[in-house]
Amino acid sequence: MDYIALESFAKINLSLDVLHKRDDGYHEISTIMQQIDLKDRVILKDKEKGIEIQCNKEGVPLDESNTVYKAWEKIVEKTGGNRGVHIIIEKNIPVASGLAGGSSNGAAVLRGLNQLWGLNLSEEELFQIGKEIGADVPFCLMGGTAWATGIGEKLTRLKDFSNKLIIVANISVPVSTAYVYNNLNLDKKNSRLDMEKIIQYMEEDNLVKLGENMFNVMEEVVIREYPIIDAIKKDMVRLGALGSLMTGSGPTVFGLFDDEGKLQMCKGELEKKVKNVFIARTL
Ligand code: ATP
Repeated sequence: MDYIALESFAKINLSLDVLHKRDDGYHEISTIMQQIDLKDRVILKDKEKGIEIQCNKEGVPLDESNTVYKAWEKIVEKTGGNRGVHIIIEKNIPVASGLAGGSSNGAAVLRGLNQLWGLNLSEEELFQIGKEIGADVPFCLMGGTAWATGIGEKLTRLKDFSNKLIIVANISVPVSTAYVYNNLNLDKKNSRLDMEKIIQYMEEDNLVKLGENMFNVMEEVVIREYPIIDAIKKDMVRLGALGSLMTGSGPTVFGLFDDEGKLQMCKGELEKKVKNVFIARTL
């Protein structure tokens, strides 16, 4: 086998709370991560040595700052030798959008190289390497639905929540995660998000309650900069979404639907004012 093609899925946060800043500068969070079928394609081709990265989208770095470079570097470091790879990223997931496209590509490369090079690294070993690449990489390796705590790397798998209808709308402005963290007012928060309750609604398949109670503490910071995010959320709900939320540090907004007709109608309406609108299903 000298080449392999992988699907690299996006994620949304069905709720997100930031608890506090640790002494090492990282923030403790609590969030429900959900993989969706919006995806990039990552192709790995064996190469004698070194790395070559190609991507069809502008704005994606092709150097050592790309997560796929870090994944290759870590795998080589861990397993020895200097095997090369040519990585082609076919990008559909909007970049710097809160959909974890970069982390997902990194996870795909870890899995892909393990397979392409027959390395036999265990899930646990892949997770450990993933953590060193980025906090969202372990979740991208795991997939499905999970409750993430710590800095996002402590994962508890949740009951299957697949096949739910989602609309994703992305305004084309990149939002820096660091900026959002730095502008959060953590002192102000006296009411913690009840994550157990959110999980209960998901387990009961109570989409109405879930839609009403989904919450992301980062929204406030990003909406201050981009009020259009709030307008999109309201549009989604007006057009039939059971709930609508910004994912991660934004600026992408998603809506949860239980009616395919309303979902299609909502897509048509949103496309009049937002460039990137996708329909997806939870995985
Ligand atoms: P997360 O939710 O994990 O923070 P995100 O969706 O907000 O991710 P990404 O799309 O992962 O953001 O991109 C964040 C930054 O990472 C981009 O600005 C880009 O410069 C850089 N980056 C590195 N590797 C990749 C990659 N493979 N795909 C996209 N962006 C990448």
